[in-house]
Amino acid sequence: MAKISINIATGSLQQAEMIVGIDLGTTNSLIAIIHPESKQAVALQEHDSSSLVPSVIYFDELQNAIVGDVAKQYLETSPQNTIFSAKRLMGKSYQDVQQNEDFFSYKIIDDNTESLVKVQVGNKFYSPIELSSFILKELKNRAEHILKTPVTKAVITVPAYFNDAQRQATRDAGKLAGLDVLRIINEPTAASLAYGIGTTVQEAEQTIAVYDLGGGTFDMSILKINHGIFEVLSTNGNTYLGGDDFDKSIIDYWLAQHNITATTFKEDKQLSQGLRLRAEEAKKHLSNADNYQTNYQNFSLSINKETFEKLIQPLIDKTLACCANAVKDANISINEIDTIVMVGGSTRVPLVNKCVSNFFGKTVNNSVNPDEVVALGAAIQADILAGNNKNFLLLDITPLSLGIETMGGLMDVLIPRNSKIPSKVARQYTTQKDGQGSMRISVYQGERDLVKDNRKLAEFNLTNIPGMPAGLPKVEVSFMVNADGILKVKAQELRSGVEQTIEVKPQYGLTDEEVEKMLMDSITHAKDDIATRALVEAQTEGEQLLSTTEKFITKHAAQLTKEELTATAQAMQALQLSLTMNDKNLIQTKTEELNNISKPYAERIMDNAISQAMKGKSV
Ligand code: AMP
Repeated sequence: MAKISINIATGSLQQAEMIVGIDLGTTNSLIAIIHPESKQAVALQEHDSSSLVPSVIYFDELQNAIVGDVAKQYLETSPQNTIFSAKRLMGKSYQDVQQNEDFFSYKIIDDNTESLVKVQVGNKFYSPIELSSFILKELKNRAEHILKTPVTKAVITVPAYFNDAQRQATRDAGKLAGLDVLRIINEPTAASLAYGIGTTVQEAEQTIAVYDLGGGTFDMSILKINHGIFEVLSTNGNTYLGGDDFDKSIIDYWLAQHNITATTFKEDKQLSQGLRLRAEEAKKHLSNADNYQTNYQNFSLSINKETFEKLIQPLIDKTLACCANAVKDANISINEIDTIVMVGGSTRVPLVNKCVSNFFGKTVNNSVNPDEVVALGAAIQADILAGNNKNFLLLDITPLSLGIETMGGLMDVLIPRNSKIPSKVARQYTTQKDGQGSMRISVYQGERDLVKDNRKLAEFNLTNIPGMPAGLPKVEVSFMVNADGILKVKAQELRSGVEQTIEVKPQYGLTDEEVEKMLMDSITHAKDDIATRALVEAQTEGEQLLSTTEKFITKHAAQLTKEELTATAQAMQALQLSLTMNDKNLIQTKTEELNNISKPYAERIMDNAISQAMKGKSV
């Protein structure tokens, strides 16, 4: 797909609904459209400049936000006022980023460990959503300038492992930038679309591996595409591995060669910046040549391809280990993968292509510009949304189970992990107390049986439930996950119609490592969880029986014999005691004993009531 610069002020373009595709990247961002004449996806660029806009924001003395190449120049000279990698902070709490704090040279605020992070520049505070919105606004302005038409609608891509919070944050950033975000799609899905994979419903089923090695991150995704429907089978990767590490390995090689200590390198900012730039230049040069040589200060800096490849082999091996894990998680074998799609600037390194190709035993797809492939795919998706390809649907899966808290702090899963989205599930619940006027709905995400081990996403009260005996109200809780992976929860009391809805904007997000840890924990604790669930269920049943027996006795004491009353009191006391002992079997035995005692007289009294009623008396 050719990259062209568009400067069209034609009527046809202005009349048509312009929906752009945006790749909001960690290092670079860009915007693409379907060319109205050629019908090809093209990245927008102004004249001879690059289509890539560095995802860097510099705040000047007046706190004006400057985005892109100009901002990038301030990374070294004004690190406190220059924000990079804002994408890494999207939907994250301070706790989430704490372990990688050294990575950021600007100030990340810790006011409340569970709230979302903010970045401090001077005396102002910015959320990652605002920071991303500055980048999106810059892209929107550029596009409007090039296309000479307002740009208000967009499809934005996110990594496949982004959770609800991160997707919502991306959507909010779009809104803040004045964009109506029609859809959030996964980056690997977009990359596949750019290769024309999955663009028609007639296509046979295919399994695709998307290998995305950028400047600072590596993502591996395995997708299944069936008749135009995309499904993410698994994701893997490393959020701190990329082309920057290739550069670092060259720098380390030069430092050793010229006896420059790590301290000198760190303290001499000019030297470190100079070497960094030349290392990147060397790396890019070696993608097409066998030797690199330059003079810098008093140093003759050189490296040949063979040495470079030796240096980066361990880094490539790390990515291949992630590929192996992704294949395993997708429950497939390597030879079931039909196509490999290469994404990200670092896939220009020939050794990367060779190793990935060897690993999968197939030639890789790398003909589309790896920096633009995601944005081009987003533009294709935008075109589909504009109504140009109706037989098309994008489908993803939920990475973690979604559910609500029920009696005893148990997790009741409504949407299991790996469910296809969009998805809608409804389940009925009822009240525990007579006349209960409200019901609290707590929404959780995770795989453990007890909600305390999962992550709370939201909580709300369904109020104004009309007074009814316990167990009579029918409260239907429905979970709807839309195509962007955003969850809407509705609770409705069906007899009265009262309802309450909430769109889940989680308080804080999860990193992909945490998602993995939560899955691992659920496996490690599976046995404990089953035992705990059984105990909690037994306790809940015991408590309910105590409560109903008590009510029954108060109401019908006159119709019970003295022996029955004594036996019941004793059995209730024994059950009460067992509830404090965390012994499921004991609780079940005591519950059964109380049941055996109360059942005969309960039946007798009910029979009496029925025969009284038959005689025309009220129950
Ligand atoms: P991305 O994050 O996808 O924009 O990728 C940026 C990374 O790709 C940076 O580490 C660049 O140095 C690297 N890169 C760009 N062009 C080349 C090239 N020709 N050869 C090797 N690496 C490259």
